[in-house]
Amino acid sequence: MSIWTYRDYAAYSSRAMGELVKVRRCIYCESELEYLLITQREYLAADAVTQEMARHVHVCNVCGWWTVNNVVFGNYDDQYSRGGFSRRMHGSAGSLRQLDLADIDTPLREIRSYLMAKSSAIDRIHPRLLEETVAAVFSDLGFRSRVTAYSNDGGIDVILDGPSDTTIGVQVKRWKDRIRAEQIRAFTGALLVNKLTAGIFVTTSSYQPGAEKTSKLAAECGLPIVLMDASRFYAALRITQRRAYSDDDVIRAPFKDAPMMLISYSNEEWNGWEVPE
Ligand SMILES: [Zn+2]
Repeated sequence: MSIWTYRDYAAYSSRAMGELVKVRRCIYCESELEYLLITQREYLAADAVTQEMARHVHVCNVCGWWTVNNVVFGNYDDQYSRGGFSRRMHGSAGSLRQLDLADIDTPLREIRSYLMAKSSAIDRIHPRLLEETVAAVFSDLGFRSRVTAYSNDGGIDVILDGPSDTTIGVQVKRWKDRIRAEQIRAFTGALLVNKLTAGIFVTTSSYQPGAEKTSKLAAECGLPIVLMDASRFYAALRITQRRAYSDDDVIRAPFKDAPMMLISYSNEEWNGWEVPE
């Protein structure tokens, strides 16, 4: 199941949908959209002589949002037709589903895209899923990563090997308040107990000045600890996001069969597009 579903057209005017398919930056994560031309073919439909010119798809490769629009020529018999051929522009766009981030079985790929599309959702994510997401991001950055056993309460949630010879212990903290010095001190202890010589602390919030000072002190004693706050984590997640749709996916992608809404039409005189009321 994709995290994307179709827009509820009842809640959309033709004009609003027309504006939406013109957007070139993702309305969810603000990344630039990639353009895909899906079809360019002609066919004779049973009910009308129809020529489908092209299906223009714009996708966000960071979170997976998409829009689609096409122009069709046809012999229509409806309120917008004044006899003969007319052109129609149709459009559709993705809408974010509610994803259950407390469900441990949710695929990581979906979790990652969902977090990009809706960053506030990170406050609801199951701690285990967050650890797995962090591990996956570091693995995409070139580390060998593994999530430690859930029962491990030593404070090391993920262990990273390499790219150099260092083994790094990671603590992942879904946390509302800023991280305090004591939490970094406890993490320092956990690293020492586990014989780890470097650490990364990842939180969904940020750090108090005392926490930063503690990590500096630890570094001076030969135990470097990187503090990763929510915005640094999102930056890392963003650069490790894969293309939302591979060429194979395009065949099955949600925009492929999206119900299209009439955005505008143009009659035989071809002098401009009109928006249906
Ligand atoms: Zn996006």
